[in-house]
Amino acid sequence: MSVRAVTNSVTGESLPVGKILCLGRNYREHAREMNAEVPATPVLFLKPSTALLRNGGTVEIPTLSRQLHYEAEMVVVIGKEGKAIPRDRAMDHVEGYAVGLDMTLRDLQGEAKSKGLPWSVAKGFDTSAPVSHVVPRDRVRDPHALQLTLQVNGSTRQQASTGEMIFRIDEIIAFVSKIFTLDRGDLIFTGTPRGVGEARSGDTLTATLESVGTLTVTVG
Ligand code: MG
Repeated sequence: MSVRAVTNSVTGESLPVGKILCLGRNYREHAREMNAEVPATPVLFLKPSTALLRNGGTVEIPTLSRQLHYEAEMVVVIGKEGKAIPRDRAMDHVEGYAVGLDMTLRDLQGEAKSKGLPWSVAKGFDTSAPVSHVVPRDRVRDPHALQLTLQVNGSTRQQASTGEMIFRIDEIIAFVSKIFTLDRGDLIFTGTPRGVGEARSGDTLTATLESVGTLTVTVG
C-alpha cells in the first residue's frame, strides 16, 4: 500500500495527504509548447491520494500507456482548513513547499483531449505524484523567486523561476477554495515550465527546487 503522507523536513513529522489539486498551463512557455491557449482562469484537475509517491522511488508505467512524460512542479502544502479564502489571507493557509513531479501518460491524455474525455487515467494513476519532503513556509523567503530544474539522467531538461507562474500562490488558493474546501494536508501542484518530455524505463529523474530540495525517481 502506498504511504499517503508527506514528511516535514524539520520535525520529521508525517502529514497525511488529502486532495491533490493540480494546475495545468500555469507557465506561458509550457502552454505554447503544448499548442494550448494561455488560460484566463486556472485550469484544474485532481489526482487521488493513492497517486502519491513520498520522497521519490519508482514510477510505474501502466501497461495501457506507451508514453510517460515528466513535469517538474512546485507543490504548495496546505496547513490550515479554509473555504473561500480571501487572497490577502491565503498565505496563512500554507504549511510549506515541496518539489513534485506531475507524471503524465501523454498518449492517453492526448487521446482524452481529442475526444473531450477526462484526464483521470492520464494524470491519476498510482505513482503519478512523486513529492519531496516539505519545507516549512518560514524557511522559504520568496516562493515566487525559486529556481526549478529537472534533469533526466543528469542532463537538464527544464529550468525556470517560479516567478514565471501565471497565477501566483495566493491567487491559486483564493480561486481553488471557492470551489473546494481546502484541508490541512491537501497538496497543490502549481504547474510546470517548458521542456516537458518523455521518461523511459530505467531513466533517473531529478527535480530540484531552490530552498526546498531535491526529489529523485527512477522509471520502472
Ligand atoms: Mg502539470
